[in-house]
Amino acid sequence: MRLSQFHLHTSKETPAEAEIVSHKLMLKAGMIRKLAAGLYTWSPLGLRVLRKVERAVREEMTAAGAIEVLMPAVQPKELWEETGRWEKFGGQLLKMQDRKEAWYCYGPTHEEVITDFARNELASYKQLPVNFFQIQTKFRDEIRPRFGVMRAREFLMKDAYSFHISDEDLGREYRNMYDTYGRIFTRLGLKFRAVFADTGAIGGSASHEFHVLADSGEDAIAFSDGSDYAANVELAEALAPGPRAAAGEDLRKVETPTQKTCEDVAALLGIALQRTVKSVAIVGSDAEGAAQFALALVRGDHSVNEIKLSKLAGLGEYRLATETEILEHLGAQPGFLGPVKPAKAIRVIADRSVAALADFVVGANENGYHLAGVNWGRDLAEPAEVADIRNAVAGDPSPDGNGTLSIARGIEVGHVFQLGRKYAEAMKLSVLDDSGKAATPAMGCYGIGVSRIVAAAIEQNHDDAGIAWPEAMAPWQAVVCVINPKNDAAVAEAAQALYQDLLTAGVDAALDDRGLRPGAMFADMELIGVPHRVVVSERGLAAGSFEYRHRRSEAAENLDRAAVLARIA
Ligand code: ATP
Ligand code: MG
Ligand code: MG
Ligand code: MG
Repeated sequence: MRLSQFHLHTSKETPAEAEIVSHKLMLKAGMIRKLAAGLYTWSPLGLRVLRKVERAVREEMTAAGAIEVLMPAVQPKELWEETGRWEKFGGQLLKMQDRKEAWYCYGPTHEEVITDFARNELASYKQLPVNFFQIQTKFRDEIRPRFGVMRAREFLMKDAYSFHISDEDLGREYRNMYDTYGRIFTRLGLKFRAVFADTGAIGGSASHEFHVLADSGEDAIAFSDGSDYAANVELAEALAPGPRAAAGEDLRKVETPTQKTCEDVAALLGIALQRTVKSVAIVGSDAEGAAQFALALVRGDHSVNEIKLSKLAGLGEYRLATETEILEHLGAQPGFLGPVKPAKAIRVIADRSVAALADFVVGANENGYHLAGVNWGRDLAEPAEVADIRNAVAGDPSPDGNGTLSIARGIEVGHVFQLGRKYAEAMKLSVLDDSGKAATPAMGCYGIGVSRIVAAAIEQNHDDAGIAWPEAMAPWQAVVCVINPKNDAAVAEAAQALYQDLLTAGVDAALDDRGLRPGAMFADMELIGVPHRVVVSERGLAAGSFEYRHRRSEAAENLDRAAVLARIA
C-alpha cells in the first residue's frame, strides 16, 4: 500500500469524549468515527485491523472443523416467539416493522435462525456432528454503549453453533472450541484467561468466557494463584452507573454514588457467596438501591435461600419478595437488568438491628453503597472498607482448595456455551438416530467479539506514542518511510525497491511516500502502531544502509538490505 494513495487521518488532539486508552487511540489514529451512540464507521485504516482479526478467527475456526455460513441480520418475530425470547430477551432487542406492519428484530444473536436452518437441513444423525459459524454484524440496544467499539450497539461477532447426537459429543466439541479459542487469542498476541461463567440470557449448562486482562475491563474475575480456577463475577453490570471511587479511598467519605465501589462490593460478595455466605443484609435508607443490589445478587445465581425486603422497599416488612415485585418496584422492564434466575434469593434486611443475622453486610444510603463488610460480629457503626474485605475474602482459599484467590479486571472477548436441547426442543428440531427413532440434537454455541478484540488489544498494547500492535493485528507489518521523496529520485527509487522486496517476501508492507516531514511521519507510524519501520534517506543510502526500528524498541539500528529483510520477513 502506498500511503499517498491511501486515506490516513490522524490527530494530535486527545478526544475529550473518550474515557479509556483504546477509545482515545482509535480516534486519534483515525480508525473509527462515531455516527451515533454505539454506532461506528470503520475507516480504511481501522478496517485493515478488523479484517486481520476476522481472518485469524476464520482460519482457526475452519481449521477446527467449523463450516462458514452467513445468516440474515434481520429476523422475523415468529421465530423468537417459538423460544419465548421475543419478550424475554428484553430491552437489548431492537424491534422494527416492515411496510406490511410485520415485526422483525435486528439479530443480537442467532440461536433461533440457526435452529430454523438446522431443522430444514438436518434429517439424520449421519449429518452430525456439525458446527456452523458466521462472522456478522449484530445489534444490541445496550443501556450504556461506551468505550467506542468495546461496548457498541452495532458490532461484529463471530458466532458458531454446533449440533450433536449425544451430550458426550457436545462435550467433545465444547473442548475443541475451548482449545480453538486459546489458539485464536494466542495467535492474536493477547494475554487472556478462560474463566467459568454464568450462562445468562442464552441459557444452558456449561459455559466459559475468555477475558483479555486489562484494568479498564468491565468484568471482575476471581482467580487462584495455585490452580487453574478462575471465575467471572458478573454482578457489576446490573448496578447503577456513577463515578468511580479511587482504589483505597475511604468509602465512608465518598459522597457520590460510586460504580467502582458497587463493582468491588459485588465482586467480593459474589466470591463470598459462592463459598460460604448464605445471607446478606443490605442496610440503609436507599430502598431502591437495595432492591437493585438484591437483584444483582439474585442474578449471580448463588446458593442463598431467601430475599427479604423491608417496608422501606415498599414491599411490607420482612416478607419474601418475588422477582416481579422487585422489578415492578424498580419500574424496570425485565430486560433492563437482564434475566433473573428464579428461586435463588438473598436475605435483604433493611434494618440494622437484624443485620447481625447476616453473614455479609452492605450499607447503602441515598447515594449508593458506601459501606460493606463481612460480618465478623463487628458493630455496623464501624464498617470495613473495601480494601479490608478484599483482604478478608481474596486471601481465603480458592473454591477448589488450591491456592488463594485474587481479583483482576477483564474484557470478555469470547464465550462458549453448552446449550443442551433448549432451542432444539423449543423449535422442534429432530433427526433420526441410528435406530431410526427421532432424537433431539444437543447444541453448543460459541461467540467471539471480533470488533471488541481490536479495542481490547490496544488496552494491552500501547505506550505514550500510541498503539503497539501485536504483529498479527497490525494494519501493516512494516512501513518503509521515505525522506523527501519528491525531491530525491534516488531515495524514492531505493525505497520503492525495498518496499517491493518486502512484498515479494510476503510481508504486508506500506510505503510512506506522502512527503511528510520526518517527525510528523514517524509520529503517525508510532501512533497507528506499525511494528517494523525502515527509513530510507539520502544519508543512509550514502552509507549503504537503512534505518530500522521495531515499534517496541528504544533505539534504531542501521542495517543493510539483507539484514532488514531478515529482521522483518
Ligand atoms: P458482555 O458481558 O460484555 O455484555 P455478552 O456476554 O452479552 O457480553 P455474548 O452474548 O457472550 O456477549 O456475545 C459474544 C461476544 O460478543 C462477547 O464475548 C463479546 O466479546 C462480544 N460482545 C457482546 N456485546 C458486545 C457489545 N455491545 N459490543 C462489542 N462486542 C460485544
Ligand atoms: Mg451483554
Ligand atoms: Mg458477558
Ligand atoms: Mg457472554
